[in-house]
Amino acid sequence: MKKGLLIVLSGPSGVGKGTILKEFVEDPELNLAYSVSMTTRGMRPGEVEGVNYNFVDRPAFEQAIKDGELLEYAEFVGNYYGTPLKNVEKLRSEGKNVLLEIEVQGCQQVMEKCPDALTIFIIPPSMEELEKRIRGRGTEPEEIVQQRLSKASREMELVDQYKFIVCNEDPKLAASIISLIIKRHME
Ligand code: 5GP
Repeated sequence: MKKGLLIVLSGPSGVGKGTILKEFVEDPELNLAYSVSMTTRGMRPGEVEGVNYNFVDRPAFEQAIKDGELLEYAEFVGNYYGTPLKNVEKLRSEGKNVLLEIEVQGCQQVMEKCPDALTIFIIPPSMEELEKRIRGRGTEPEEIVQQRLSKASREMELVDQYKFIVCNEDPKLAASIISLIIKRHME
């Protein structure tokens, strides 16, 4: 059986990766399996263990790092996030196209370990628009908003390392472009 693709959706926080993903992840033609990440952040209302994330405590996460169980991991706003390697390998060997939705630092690690990964960087239409979206989330203090924005600017400098760059002017349009990219690579 042909091994499935490894598809990585990345880009700055607030750019809309999750919204875009929802638009194409269920498309049966794409034969996708979403890789559920491990995180130490608390569960948000509406989230489900094992569906959105595997929620673990810091010692458990640090043990997984030590044991080499993660394809990549990063610390983001005080919490760990990482991709369990075993699951990705299992799904790919079953022919599934595995989809990761991760931040930029983790994607850099995937590029090194899996040069064949289909890396897609989502950019905002402008930095002003990204600022609007980050502020639109509401409750974060100004200091955190500024931290996110300066992190986003630094991350945007890495854009030329990605195989594809997709602008999130409109999530539905971005999702159809990504679907086309995936289909093209399934041929
Ligand atoms: P949130 O806490 O809003 O669910 O996610 C915060 C950030 O962590 C998002 O940018 C998301 O893409 C990223 N993220 C989610 N899972 C992973 C992962 O397994 N690895 C890495 N490096 N980032 C992740």
